[in-house]
Amino acid sequence: MNVKESLKGLPSLESILGDTACASAIKIYGRERVRDTLRKVFDTFRKAALAGEANGSDAKKNSTYWIGIATALLEKTLEPNLRKVVNCSGIIVHTNIGRSTLAEEAANAAYLSATSNVNIEYRLAAGERGDRDEALEGLITQLTGAEAATVVNNNAAAILLALNALSDQMETIVSRGELIEIGGSFRLPEIMKKSGCRLKEVGATNRTHMRDYEEAVNENTALILRAHTSNYKIIGFTSQPTLKELSTFAKSKGLPMMVDLGSGAIIDLAPFGIKDEPTIRETLENDADIVTVSCDKLLGGPQAGIIAGRKELIQRIRKNNLKRALRCDKMTLSALEATLRLYLNPEKALREIPTLRHLSRSIDSVRNIAMTVSLSLKEWFGDEATVSVIDDVCLAGAGSAPEIDIPSISIAITHRKLSPNKLAEMFRKLNPPIIGRVDDDLFRLDMRCIDKPSEVSDSLT
Ligand SMILES: *Cc1c(COP(=O)(O)O)cnc(C)c1O
Repeated sequence: MNVKESLKGLPSLESILGDTACASAIKIYGRERVRDTLRKVFDTFRKAALAGEANGSDAKKNSTYWIGIATALLEKTLEPNLRKVVNCSGIIVHTNIGRSTLAEEAANAAYLSATSNVNIEYRLAAGERGDRDEALEGLITQLTGAEAATVVNNNAAAILLALNALSDQMETIVSRGELIEIGGSFRLPEIMKKSGCRLKEVGATNRTHMRDYEEAVNENTALILRAHTSNYKIIGFTSQPTLKELSTFAKSKGLPMMVDLGSGAIIDLAPFGIKDEPTIRETLENDADIVTVSCDKLLGGPQAGIIAGRKELIQRIRKNNLKRALRCDKMTLSALEATLRLYLNPEKALREIPTLRHLSRSIDSVRNIAMTVSLSLKEWFGDEATVSVIDDVCLAGAGSAPEIDIPSISIAITHRKLSPNKLAEMFRKLNPPIIGRVDDDLFRLDMRCIDKPSEVSDSLT
């Protein structure tokens, strides 16, 4: 029998849908989806059979067979696309896998906010409408010394909003050495253009002098901006005025001084090797009028952006109508409030905020985890691979402290048959997927972000 003849033997959709074997699928997925999926299964089969890639005589198979294929496809659609992954990448704050994970208290706060109504802009005492910033402003000012603060979706939003509010149609002066791009999608010059301000570049990439700023100021100047060049470093023949010099100059001209701080440390991270991340407080003490930061980088909270600084400027920013488009939702605000509250006790913050805990933990604690995890991996691989614990270095990530190697411990795996890249792929296929890295032609699982051995061994089933 030729293929076309065989295909005539396919059962009708209606007969399959009427089959008792189909009842449970219809109950779960609905009749329409089951019918659409079966139709897709038949179409695919017909095409494959005509192309000689499937056996035409399979057309005779009974309803149960076709329902089985359709159900498998439908089950796949129930699996979420966003999945938990295990960070053994050697990058503590990795943008592609969601940056910081939340402290338990912050996650609980977000959960509560997700599953109940909250007084996000409602004054309970007065029973009247309030402002979204009220819950967080007091904490932020207490932790940073700022007079006032507002919160938006991320640092890019913070910069866009602040520039629009303070420098729309006017000039903002920036050094050429600070016109940064972060992660390919954030470019300071482009955000500035979108904000409506006019970019006035001064100096050269490696050197900008006080006189460059002095010469650039005119009647159209509205703002001086300094961007923390967090993801690259110019070394060698370089110079730039200190923030204090620049803000003193801005003040003498009656101009606000804004600093895009990027990572936004609340406590000093120098003891953990992160030397070039000034705190928000320090930046304000050097007379910055407005500081913007990300909340999901070294701060260790949810994705959000804080704008902190002088009251009168924050009020202008808050009243700007872009604020509405950039505001955070209740889950984010709850998680951020809980994260910031942990900072009231810095030791607690270091212990409970995962990003800070991972950054600050001792190399011995990383090694201990690595030893235990390596035993599970040895057992799992048997004699297919060599598993060893090695000294390694990792990075803070997300544009922070790019040139600083943080000491770490990795598990290095060499497989008898699989190349390092194939091994990496194999680990990404586990459930949950484990994200390692290949460096120096060696596949590694960095252990700095692993708190418990089960975080890795749960995937090895
Ligand atoms: C990360 C970063 C940004 C962008 O912040 P997002 O929170 O990712 O929007 C802007 N400026 C600097 C200096 C940064 O490091």
